[in-house]
Amino acid sequence: MYYTIRMFWADEFADAIEERFQKKIKEGTPLIIRDEKTLSGRVHIGSVRGIVIHGLIGQILTERNITNEFLFELNDNDPMDGLPVYVDQEKYKPHMGKPLFAVPNFSEGFGEELKEAVAPMGLPIHWYHLRPLYIEGKFNDVIREALDNATRIREIYKEVSGGGKPDDWFPLNVICPQCGKIGTTKVTGWNGSEVTYVCKPKYVEWAEGCGHEGTMSPFDGNASLPWKVEWAAKWKVMGVDIEGGGKDHYAAGGSREVAATISKDIFHYDPPFDIPYEFFNLAGKKMSASKGLGACAKDVADLLPPKLLKFLMIRKEARVPIDFDPEGKTIPNLFDEYDRCSDHYFNRHPETYEGYARPYALAQADLSHDPDDIWEMRFQALSFVVQMPHLHLEEEATKLKGSGLSEAEITALHERADFVKKWIDTLAPAEYKFVIQDSVPTDLELSDNQRDALHALGKRLGDLKEWTGESVHDKIHRTKEEFGLPPKELFQPLYKIFLGRTSGPQVGWFLSTMEQEKVAEKLLNV
Ligand SMILES: [Zn+2]
Repeated sequence: MYYTIRMFWADEFADAIEERFQKKIKEGTPLIIRDEKTLSGRVHIGSVRGIVIHGLIGQILTERNITNEFLFELNDNDPMDGLPVYVDQEKYKPHMGKPLFAVPNFSEGFGEELKEAVAPMGLPIHWYHLRPLYIEGKFNDVIREALDNATRIREIYKEVSGGGKPDDWFPLNVICPQCGKIGTTKVTGWNGSEVTYVCKPKYVEWAEGCGHEGTMSPFDGNASLPWKVEWAAKWKVMGVDIEGGGKDHYAAGGSREVAATISKDIFHYDPPFDIPYEFFNLAGKKMSASKGLGACAKDVADLLPPKLLKFLMIRKEARVPIDFDPEGKTIPNLFDEYDRCSDHYFNRHPETYEGYARPYALAQADLSHDPDDIWEMRFQALSFVVQMPHLHLEEEATKLKGSGLSEAEITALHERADFVKKWIDTLAPAEYKFVIQDSVPTDLELSDNQRDALHALGKRLGDLKEWTGESVHDKIHRTKEEFGLPPKELFQPLYKIFLGRTSGPQVGWFLSTMEQEKVAEKLLNV
């Protein structure tokens, strides 16, 4: 368990943020939170973790009346340096090396798909594209600073990461005016207003340059900074106060450290408050079978209600990896944990822990009001009901709740049922699939005592005046006591007789969902 009595992890980050930015907060200057994704393909679900973490920090700061803005960059300025397997290779190959925005009908769709996956979670996100900022000249000053300090930047690469750049390397990539590629050009000089460059046929393996060379202004969208320098430059240009990063950037001498050093030494800008976060690991055969397709943000987002996806992303501390196997028991467990956290939030426990209550409250997608205290059907029971054609969902829910459902509860019930049905049809492990057995299974082995107990139970259930989950449960319990049977020795045959398996939903309740006479008769004849 990662939760203890201590504070929820994101609140601890928010405390540290308040501490660092006291002055700005007092002045009412908005705190800028930033994250980004390069639109080089369909966005992987792993990237959603970063988006949710940053959005969550924004959400908490807003809760504390601290003005903030979460800027999410859709990076359409990087070179196309690889092709996803699911795009037309012949069609896009000639564009390799061009900046993404210049490739027709490519990056925009990936950005839109990411927005669709993320939007239902209700995070306060301001989306922006990188390319227009270069064109507007927002990067002109940092480009000048970088070029003026090319020697020092080369030293930083060498000192921090150990991987040096050649002595004639400049921290800039220009867009070749002849072939339109940015990945193939090498800047060879800088005179304070213009750069000299050459578009080299063999500069990189993944694209071919046209051989053109010349002199040009590096400003107003003609060029972009290489990524570690650009990362630092973006902090200054966007005025970033808070920005975390995925684990892969945090090796000693890794990109974060290089960017932070460049930020301080070259741009004289304090690197933002950092939130390093671990990977989101996706397991499961079906999800990886289609060569990355099933691992996309939108595909995974479609498997869960938005608040459950958000809950999945925030319930573990940022520094703890999340392992998600949609084909295993992860999804049922996730719903159970969500419900358990809601019990804490609504004080349904004698002791309630903030560490449980907070992720429930923060996971809500509608931030306009506090969550309503509603009854929800547990995943296990719901997965059973939706598979039983003879059962009526709302009726069973009313029985389980013990009173009528409110309108909000009915809406929530159907929303959850839709997701559960989809899960049963696609990803559910065998143990969640239930089929009522017509006859007693032939491989049922019973001791004399077990058989006698089942007969006695059949008689008692047949005589029951009130046919409810509780009354059936009560008779089962009494029979078990009377015949001195350990629970397993009575429950397992019951599951076997009615479901053809050795486990299932709560036994008294599921028997009560069937016809009383038929249940009694079946037991009397085992
Ligand atoms: Zn060229």
